[in-house]
Amino acid sequence: MKRILVTGGAGFVGSHLCEKLLNEGNEVIAVDNFFTGSKSNVVHLIDNHYFELIRHDVTMPFFAEIDEIYNLASPASPIHYQHNAIKTVKTAVMGAINMLGLAKRTNAKILQASTSEVYGDPQIHPQPESYWGSVNPIGLRSCYDEGKRVAETLFINYHRQNNVKIKIARIFNTYGPRMHPNDGRVVSNFIVQALTNKDITIFGQGNQTRSFQYVDDLVEGLTKLMNNTEDSFTGPVNIGNPGEFTILELAQIVLEMTNSKSKLIFMPLPEDDPMQRKPDISLAKEKLIWEPKIPLKDGLKKTIDYFESLLLKTK
Ligand code: NAD
Ligand code: UDP
Repeated sequence: MKRILVTGGAGFVGSHLCEKLLNEGNEVIAVDNFFTGSKSNVVHLIDNHYFELIRHDVTMPFFAEIDEIYNLASPASPIHYQHNAIKTVKTAVMGAINMLGLAKRTNAKILQASTSEVYGDPQIHPQPESYWGSVNPIGLRSCYDEGKRVAETLFINYHRQNNVKIKIARIFNTYGPRMHPNDGRVVSNFIVQALTNKDITIFGQGNQTRSFQYVDDLVEGLTKLMNNTEDSFTGPVNIGNPGEFTILELAQIVLEMTNSKSKLIFMPLPEDDPMQRKPDISLAKEKLIWEPKIPLKDGLKKTIDYFESLLLKTK
């Protein structure tokens, strides 16, 4: 049995990861400051004696004896990470320093939840890990993009200088149950709008693309990366679903699947919104023998069912 720390463990992805790690027979400590996460995401795990939930902010040091760390603490939705941009940078940078220090002291292996946002508005398509990205260092998204880029720099240097065992996952747009209904990201927005017959808010013309990964595929990829025993293989590794859709296509699929009467409305495109995004997952396929299995419509069905029952409960 391993003792595993998950920062951001009460968030959308973190809660699914804690569940999987517990099911595999590990002891799990979730730390979270509950900025975008909530106890309700992990309430079903609380009775498990091998699960601990601790209110803690990763900008402060954390002490525990652990074998592995998944560092997920960070708001991920643009509206949330821009709400307090300085705090977002601090969470990425100080959180990485604190968790890497903990990994160094305890000799734990540590995985960083990095992001496809490190590629910025990409000039190369699809994006391989070798692409350095195109990020505006002073743009509205930079608190998140640049924070995550510095975190990658910290991770690789703790590895080079101090032999800390690290893995870096570059996660592409992920969706599924337990996203917050007001999360602000496109999949949850469109589903909640469609289910409540409110207007579907398309930013720009809706011709920008994203590649959407279901959360179960992501947590499978993250654990495969952590369990990779080749210490010199640090990543970064893209973990995403290469199925690429325009935002307009996504809206039409959601409308069709929910039988909604919602109308599409077009709103201004946010600053520095990337025009296209699609992962090249050759590296993950080769090194982790991993690829996503859940097609968009199957994952959307599960997510729509989740939001339907959530909205019924809150009626
Ligand atoms: P989320 O907002 O649902 O979860 C993030 C969690 O981190 C929340 O529970 C939040 O309360 C917690 N948190 C934030 N700041 C903290 C701090 N200072 N100290 C302690 N806890 C803190 O987002 P998510 O989608 O679950 O994302 C999880 C991780 O995966 C993030 O690091 C995110 O950058 C990364 N990621 C996610 C996606 C995606 O599409 N979901 C894509 C790329 C990267
Ligand atoms: N988007 C949209 N309507 C919304 C929310 C988002 O058209 O209500 C667009 C957004 O401009 C972006 C895409 O959907 O082009 C994905 O946005 P999200 O915030 O989910 O993720 P990110 O931009 O970080 O990939």
